[in-house]
Amino acid sequence: MIDLHTHTDRSDGSTDPGDLVRMAVRHGIEALGISDHDTLAGYDAAMPAAAACGLELICAVELSTRPQAQALPGKREPSAHLLGYWLLSAPSAEFRGWLESQQESRRQRNVELVARLRQLGVEVALQEAEIYGRNQVGRPHFARVLCDKGYVSNIQEAFDVYLADDAKAAVDRDEPTLEEGIRRIVESGGMASLAHPVRLPQRGPDLAKLLEHLIDVGLQGIEVFHSEHTPAGTAAYAELARSFGLIPTGGTDFHGENKPRIRLGTGIDSNIHLNYSFLDDMRDMCTARHNQ
Ligand code: AMP
Ligand code: ZN
Ligand code: FE
Ligand code: FE
Repeated sequence: MIDLHTHTDRSDGSTDPGDLVRMAVRHGIEALGISDHDTLAGYDAAMPAAAACGLELICAVELSTRPQAQALPGKREPSAHLLGYWLLSAPSAEFRGWLESQQESRRQRNVELVARLRQLGVEVALQEAEIYGRNQVGRPHFARVLCDKGYVSNIQEAFDVYLADDAKAAVDRDEPTLEEGIRRIVESGGMASLAHPVRLPQRGPDLAKLLEHLIDVGLQGIEVFHSEHTPAGTAAYAELARSFGLIPTGGTDFHGENKPRIRLGTGIDSNIHLNYSFLDDMRDMCTARHNQ
């Protein structure tokens, strides 16, 4: 079994990177991809534990990218997520430097988010969110504080009322476009895969058109297997991968206690089963493209 889409507490997962490695070994996972949001810190921190346990660690990242179009005036489409996988070589120093600038843009967004919440009569200090997001504060951490302080009764309500991209406290962040994200990943030696396509607003012919365009820019993969995909969705994304010559990628999107329904390696109610041969296939397809 393998899991190529997981988050640690270096972004918005709840699990320490070393603990995630040990958990993966206990679950019988043979290769673990750590794909934290806009950072390689979780992957880096997991390396010593992986070496000690003999677990194959896959270097990955999940970039948040700017939505393509404005949905309605004043509304904002959710950001599109892009996975990067470095299967043949390590990411360049330049890419790591660029990720640092993304961290800075997140910090700036968080300061603006606190101000925006205050305007709405919601008093939350950055330090309170930092208790949950010790390494990188994201909106899920703000959501927990809003719950703790009784402004909302659950995490989803925190997003629906305040934090979602189209909610009252939405703050624009200086995110790269999908095209820039793809270019950065490819130039640094990685392969770019469109994460959980089910969350994109595009369907059918619109999704096909988007894929055609992104492939021109350098997109190599699409996340066929994901905890949020239904069996019919998975089949449809597998067919898209086949017809566009995209490399299928997959994983659970494990976030530990922050998304407790998603289990490491097996997803929601065991809806994910990926064998090691799936990773071999990904690597073979990457190598074939590399040698083209
Ligand atoms: P951030 O990285 O701080 O922009 O927060 C993004 C994360 O917040 C995503 O990875 C989701 O886990 C969560 N999120 C974003 N929008 C929603 C939403 N509408 N409902 C629930 N969770 C959301
Ligand atoms: Zn996340
Ligand atoms: Fe994502
Ligand atoms: Fe994710």
